[in-house]
This record gives sequence, C-alpha cells and structure tokens, in this order.
Amino acid sequence: MAIVLGKQYIERIDGLNNEVWIDGERVTGKLSEHPAFEGILRTKGILYDTQHDRNTQSLVTGITPNGTERMNFAFEQPVTVNDLKKRREATQLWARKSCGTVGRSPDYINTAIMTLGSSPGFFEKKYANNVQGVYEQAVKKDLSFTHTFINPQVNRSPNYLKFEFLNELNKKDIIAAKVIDETEEGIVVHGARLLATQGGLTDEVLVLPTGSATSDPSYAYAFAIPSNTKGLKFLCREPYASKVSNSFDHPLTAHFDEIDSVVVFDHVLVPWDRVFLYGDAERAAGIYKDIHLNIMLLFQAVSRQVVKTEYLLGLGEALAQSIAITEYSHVQEKLSEIIITLEIMKALLYRAEMGATKNEFGTLVPEAIPLMTASSYYQNIYPRLVEILHLLGASGFIALPTEKDFQSTVGKDIEQYLQGRNAGAKDRVQLFRLAWDLTMSPFGTRQTQYERFFFGDPVRLSSALYQAYDKKTLVEQVNDFLQNHHGY
Ligand SMILES: Cc1cc2nc3c(=O)[nH]c(=O)nc-3n(C[C@H](O)[C@H](O)[C@H](O)COP(=O)(O)OP(=O)(O)OC[C@H]3O[C@@H](n4cnc5c(N)ncnc54)[C@H](O)[C@@H]3O)c2cc1C
Repeated sequence: MAIVLGKQYIERIDGLNNEVWIDGERVTGKLSEHPAFEGILRTKGILYDTQHDRNTQSLVTGITPNGTERMNFAFEQPVTVNDLKKRREATQLWARKSCGTVGRSPDYINTAIMTLGSSPGFFEKKYANNVQGVYEQAVKKDLSFTHTFINPQVNRSPNYLKFEFLNELNKKDIIAAKVIDETEEGIVVHGARLLATQGGLTDEVLVLPTGSATSDPSYAYAFAIPSNTKGLKFLCREPYASKVSNSFDHPLTAHFDEIDSVVVFDHVLVPWDRVFLYGDAERAAGIYKDIHLNIMLLFQAVSRQVVKTEYLLGLGEALAQSIAITEYSHVQEKLSEIIITLEIMKALLYRAEMGATKNEFGTLVPEAIPLMTASSYYQNIYPRLVEILHLLGASGFIALPTEKDFQSTVGKDIEQYLQGRNAGAKDRVQLFRLAWDLTMSPFGTRQTQYERFFFGDPVRLSSALYQAYDKKTLVEQVNDFLQNHHGY
C-alpha cells in the first residue's frame, strides 16, 4: 500500500531522530510529544487519514504509475483537465481542514517531486535516473518533504555571491550553502539555507537552486536527502503552539503552527544517487520555469488561497452579524472587498485550469499568467483582508476573555456583558478568538507574512509577471490606432 495512515506518518517522523533545535535545545524525545510540534503533526496525520477514508479516498488518492496501488493525489501527473480539477478539489479538501492556514500540507512539495519526476528529460543524463528514483521512492513510501530554496538574508547585494566567490572565503566563513567537496560517494554541502517550513517534520528535504543567476558552479545544485542525514540541522523559530493552553483561546495556533526553520548543512554528504543537478548554471537557472515547477506549485497555492479567502469572508460576515453592523453601507462595502477578492481568485484559478496545455514532458500545466496574476494579487491584497477584519471587529479583538475567565467567579459578568446580538458570550468570544488567531496573534501575524512572501519577494514576482506577459500585440494595437484614427 503506497498510502500511509496518519499514525504511520507520525511514527516514522518520530523514528527519524532528526536534529531539530528549538528554544535553545535539541529535541531529544519524540517530536509528536513536543508541545511545539504535536498539533501540526496531529493535523498532518488527519490529512493522511483522509487517504483511507471511504468518503474521501477517491479524491485524495490516485493510482500509482504501475497501476497496482493507491498513492497520494499530488504524486499523480496530471494529463487531462479532469486530473487538474481533481487535484484542485483534493487540495481544497485538505485546506479546509485548517481554514487554509497550513501552507505546506503534503500536497505542496509532493507536487514538486511529481513535476521533477515527470520531467527526466530536463536533467543531465547521469542525473535523470536519480530524479525518477526519488520520485518512485516517494510514491512507494508516501514520503513527505520540506524544501529550502533561498540563501540566508545576510547580504542581498546583487554582487554578494560573486564577491564571496572572488574572495575565496575560507570554508569557515561560508554562509549560503555551497558544494565544498566532491568524493566518490557524493558532493559535500556546507552552509545554510532558508526557510524550511515544517523543517524536521518531514521525511526528506528538497533543495533546489535559489533562482538567482550564479556563475559559481558550487552554488548550482539540486538534490533531495532524508531529514536525518548526518550534519543536517533544523534551527526552528520561536514556537507559537507550545505557548498556548487550549483550543478555545487559540483555535488555530493550537493545531496549525507549522514552524519554520533555518537549515544548516554541516559538511553534509549528498550521495551521488540523490543529486539532480550539479555545477550546471544553465539548468539551475531553468529548473523552475523549464519544467513548469513554479506553475504546478502555484496551482496548489492558489487553490488553497481560495479556501482561505472563503474562511476570511465567512468570518467577516459572522463577526458583522454577531454585533449587528451588516446594515451599514461601509461594512457591506468592506465585506464586498473580500467577496471581490474571492471571486477574482476563483476566476483566475478556473481560467488557469481551462487554459492548461501539455508541456514537452506530457504534464498538463495550468495556464501560467492567471496563476502568476493571482499570486501577485494575493500577496498585496491579503494584508487588506486582514485589515478589514480588524476594522469590523474593533475592540472585539481586544476584549477577549479566555476559557479560564469563563470558568472563574467573574464568568457570570462575562456572560452578561460580552454576549452578542443573537449569541451567548461564549459563542461570540469563540468567534472573535478565531478571527483574532487568524489575523492578530503571533500565529496570525505570521500568516500575513507568509502570504506576502512564501512564494517569493512580491517585487520580483511582479517583475516576473511583467516579463512573462505578452505586451507586443497590445502595443501594436495602440500604434495601429495612432496611425489610422485620422480617418474618423
Ligand atoms: C512564513 C514564511 C515561510 C516560508 N517558507 C519557506 C519554505 O518553506 N521554503 C523556502 O525555501 N522558503 C520559504 N520562505 C522564504 C521565502 O521564499 C522568502 O521570504 C522570499 O523568497 C523572499 O526572500 P527573503 O525573505 O530572503 O527577502 P529578501 O530577498 O531579503 O528581501 C528583503 C527586501 O529587500 C528587497 N530586495 C532584496 N533583493 C532584491 C532584489 N534583487 N531586487 C529588488 N528588491 C530586492 C525585497 O523586495 C524586500 O523588500 C518563507 C518565508 C516566510 C515569510
């Protein structure tokens, strides 16, 4: 059986003994019993369980390439429009389990693994089998992946990597992970990468080139290795989940804090059979675009963002109803802004699906421009959606008693003074707590930063859209008008 149950996934992660550091300590016990990770691991377990649930199995699983077993839906190479539709619906089913807040559900990087594995012709002959080998293992064992695609933020000057190269810095001065040695067994990678969401909580790590041009071959690499490879360390950010006490007070943080981590490669040996690309600046520059990896990932991301926007709209409307403000025209206008966002995102997603075309590797790839548009648009609009909730909820986001307050001797006062128009105080507070946790708590604030940046810097993504957009015929149309309008 190529699909695991949640319990099997969690046991496997616990058994890896990955080197995970958090709050100044290395985690020594089971990750699933650590307060920072237990919520998100349980949540991921629930997603894996849907693969075995009779009601959802046909949607969230596909049939393995050899036709014998079921596999995670994201590993299925889409070849028809129906495949894309199924992929979207499956992603959205998973996204609904977390109000769209879990960005790295196992369909995200699994989609990248599928895309890589379906495009062996892109890679140098000597590495093509490796890519397919990793894909086949991932399918067979239902593996999960984190990824790290960018360099540490130490110096973003355009000349930094060139400078580092020219100065032949000592190995001890290396910052951005690079290949420092080649042996019979493989390449040796040393340095750091950002920012692996769920780093340490997955079976493997996918490492791809940063996307910025490099003339130094030691930065041109791609590979996937097990998370417990010797020398691999995950340095986690401050956890949010371990600091919360219950689901009433922090309904999202308690279950969906994915954790993000800096990944350190301390002389990590990457075996040759795990190397996808090395020393090949041209392929390194083309890996996202030439096999449409970026577009396949965007299809997953935009599908999830649609779900998240549905929740934002549902929350906004429920908040407004709970304090009876829906009749004010500016409130309706604000809620309409969320409606407009939702409808634009859905329209772009469906248009991408309908405009899909097969690439040279046989993958049916959604149309790029609508997805690039959706992603750039959402990066900018998401903070405004959050602001709308804040504007509607006003002090309701601050006068937020905890579950303990309700249970205390002042509980009666709270019941009396914090009730809603048509709801008891507990229901109203629970609703406001959900909105607060999505938009204002440390978890919620990270959500905003996530939507702004997770797919890359908004400025450079807008530039990419500009460059990809076919403007030629539009300019010709204008020129044509200028030349011919005298005849009116
Ligand atoms: C919550 C969260 C989760 C993430 N998860 C992952 C993950 O799982 N895996 C992963 O690989 N990455 C992940 N990322 C990283 C994400 O891909 C980056 O944040 C994004 O690519 C931007 O890079 P940066 O953060 O280094 O910003 P920087 O590139 O340092 O940008 C900082 C500022 O400088 C400007 N700037 C920098 N360079 C240029 C330039 N060349 N031209 C113009 N302006 C420039 C930017 O516009 C920006 O305003 C995550 C990020 C966040 C916030």
